[in-house]
Amino acid sequence: MLKKLRILLIILVLSSCFYDCQSKQSSDNQVKTVEQNLVVTPKIKPESKAEKCLQSMGLVNIKDSLPNLIIDLKYSTTDNFIGIDFYGDITNAFVQNECLIKLQNAYQILQNKKPEYTFIVFDAVRSLEAQQLMWDSVDVPQNIKHWYVANPAKGSIHNFGMALDISIVDDTGNVLDMGTEFDYFGELAYPNKTEYFYQNGNLSEQQYQNRNLLMSIMADAGFYVSKTEWWHYNAASLAYSKNKYEIFSLKNCADE
Ligand SMILES: [Zn+2]
Repeated sequence: MLKKLRILLIILVLSSCFYDCQSKQSSDNQVKTVEQNLVVTPKIKPESKAEKCLQSMGLVNIKDSLPNLIIDLKYSTTDNFIGIDFYGDITNAFVQNECLIKLQNAYQILQNKKPEYTFIVFDAVRSLEAQQLMWDSVDVPQNIKHWYVANPAKGSIHNFGMALDISIVDDTGNVLDMGTEFDYFGELAYPNKTEYFYQNGNLSEQQYQNRNLLMSIMADAGFYVSKTEWWHYNAASLAYSKNKYEIFSLKNCADE
């Protein structure tokens, strides 16, 4: 009897592995097509001191477990609202493990809905020093500055590795049109005004659908969208993140 059960168990394990391996292989092939079509300057990613520091703080590299995602840290390039690369040798996207688990869920939902698409990550953990530079540089009136960039005195959820800036890439390698660019500081980027701007003709049918696709997937995976940025998602509140995790400051990495 026991022997029969054991054989049955082995058959079950083997058949489920066969199914998983098959589906993984087919999704890998699909995403490979996406990546091959992308026009992204390849970066050599040495293990820098800052990234080693992030690892020692317990943060994880998204690419390690989600290799099919595109990582394009905008602040590690000059293609950002400040126009300089202020992330330096941080070129990989690091987050806390519980944020990664939600992202894995989001990716699974995306694969189920649109197997030909993948995510593109614009920002993940951010140092306190980078937060300060952004706070000092954002060109909006002082009284509404905190709507767009968190005050470094309070800290951003990015500083704890519990937030992501993210969008979707299609099968031709293009980032989906969400109606505004990443880091557009204005009402057109407000998630809760998506419906309003669509009804008023400021967002096209396609932009409206693209944005709703991203927002619904991220919400289903347990993320909370920012009030002012369709691309920004928190894995938890600032209070929770502060209580549980250490803030990422380059000063703390100096002697690593
Ligand atoms: Zn953000």
